[in-house]
Amino acid sequence: MPIFQDQRGKNIANFQKMIDEKKHTICKYYDEIGHLYYGQYKDMNIDVTKDINARCESISNIYKDIEELNIKILREKGLKKCAICSTENQLANAFCFKCGARFADDDAVPADVIAPPNACATPPSEKRSEPAPAEPSPAPAIDLAAPEANGNGEA
Ligand SMILES: [Zn+2]
Repeated sequence: MPIFQDQRGKNIANFQKMIDEKKHTICKYYDEIGHLYYGQYKDMNIDVTKDINARCESISNIYKDIEELNIKILREKGLKKCAICSTENQLANAFCFKCGARFADDDAVPADVIAPPNACATPPSEKRSEPAPAEPSPAPAIDLAAPEANGNGEA
């Protein structure tokens, strides 16, 4: 086993541990929300809306953190997730292999990994969306060859 694999496994375990801790925090907030709500049920004069909302907001933020950690874990595995259909793709993919959605630029892998040597002129993501750019070049030559068309020259 290369050292890389080992380090990767450690990173993944570390991220997973952080996720577990965050999930534990979420459970704690849910628990507190339950107690707050019950307190209000028992005594209608108590308004716990603010307290509950604050915890709900924290929970939403923690879910976002967990999502980011899951993305980091996927990256360690050489994968990324499609934002549209949630399918796991290889990091090198410019488009989702399942639904065809384009990945954001910051997901793009260095061009030299997959791009052919003549791709230097265009950005790697653009190049793949236009598979046949060679076609239009004969068109201007026709314009030059038929200047009479402009001046009612046709019989
Ligand atoms: Zn997709």
